Amino acid sequence: MHFDIVTIFPQFFDGPFRFGVLGRALESGRVQLGIHSLREFTDDRHKTVDDRPFGGGEGMVLKPEPLFRAVESLGIPEKTVRDTARERVVLLSAQGIRFNQKLAREMAGLERVVFLCGRYEGVDERVSDFLADMEISIGDYVLSGGELAAAVVIDAIARLLPGVLGNKQSARNESFGSDEALSPATVQGDPPLSTCDSLGLLDYPHYTRPPQFRGYSVPAVLSCGNHEEIRRWRRERALAKTLRNRPELLAEGDLSDEDRRVLKRLQDEQ
Ligand code: SAM
Repeated sequence: MHFDIVTIFPQFFDGPFRFGVLGRALESGRVQLGIHSLREFTDDRHKTVDDRPFGGGEGMVLKPEPLFRAVESLGIPEKTVRDTARERVVLLSAQGIRFNQKLAREMAGLERVVFLCGRYEGVDERVSDFLADMEISIGDYVLSGGELAAAVVIDAIARLLPGVLGNKQSARNESFGSDEALSPATVQGDPPLSTCDSLGLLDYPHYTRPPQFRGYSVPAVLSCGNHEEIRRWRRERALAKTLRNRPELLAEGDLSDEDRRVLKRLQDEQ
């Protein structure tokens, strides 16, 4: 999969993509990344990317021309003829649709995504209307620029791509995971190794050595060797944590009859 980022701060990305899973994916070529300086697409001596807002008001607004030129330079077709099942232009914006794991899964099926990072008061609206295919927000708060948001979205998508995570099942077992957690090509012929898929809930709690730490013990059930008991305990803990921290996920989660019984008991205990 190929990602492009258009930004006024290309050096911003020197760090975030060098490490861990994403760093290895880039090194191996499974993921490709192009960072493009917006100022290279200006046509004045001062490389001006922003201007004052029409109608008055605070701050400066990113001009449309450099952003349009940047996208055109990448060989991306015009919005009206673009095949958005293969390639998309995304404007990072606090006014966008909220990014989540479902959208990450959907976007992992694309071949190329171009991210446009806003700054200042935002971006001339013609970019959203006539250049970008979608506006994405990473949460209900305002950042100073789209760069952090682009890094977040790319990280979440890239780890769902075939071969990027070491263990093929990992994405399925994580928080918000589902049977579609990996691309169909990866899952085909691979029945779940774990019986603890999160199926839309938060992940279950994890523990490692030492079994005793400052008087805090690892739950005994995890050392009992009974896989069915461990599965039941993990599912119950995933339900309990989801109920405590993100109850709204329970309405959309893939709950079995057993889950509903456990949930009822947990709610009664509250
Ligand atoms: N005036 C804008 C508003 O109130 O919606 C905020 C502009 S913000 C200071 C500058 C840029 O940061 C935006 O153009 C966008 O690219 C990025 N940004 C800010 N918050 C974001 C969020 N929650 N998700 C994604 N991008 C965000």
